[in-house]
Amino acid sequence: MTHLDGNVLAGPLSELFSVDMTVAVGRCAGCGDQSVLASAMVYESGPDIVVRCHHCDDVLMTLVQSPDDLRVEFRGIQMLRVTR
Ligand SMILES: [Zn+2]
Repeated sequence: MTHLDGNVLAGPLSELFSVDMTVAVGRCAGCGDQSVLASAMVYESGPDIVVRCHHCDDVLMTLVQSPDDLRVEFRGIQMLRVTR
């Protein structure tokens, strides 16, 4: 399946966070890799977005969008860090 890069997350995540989360550094729970979200592999399937680690392919987060809400699950991210 073809994937996009993490920069496509800028739109949906801007609804939750006031900073650009594509430059936030996340630590993968699977392999410990620490990278900006922009480097993640993003798979879109209709309203659902699955974000995978570019290093080990584990799922970092999922976003489920509907007309009424946006649900984000961070099951594969141990830590998120943004620079002030
Ligand atoms: Zn990983």
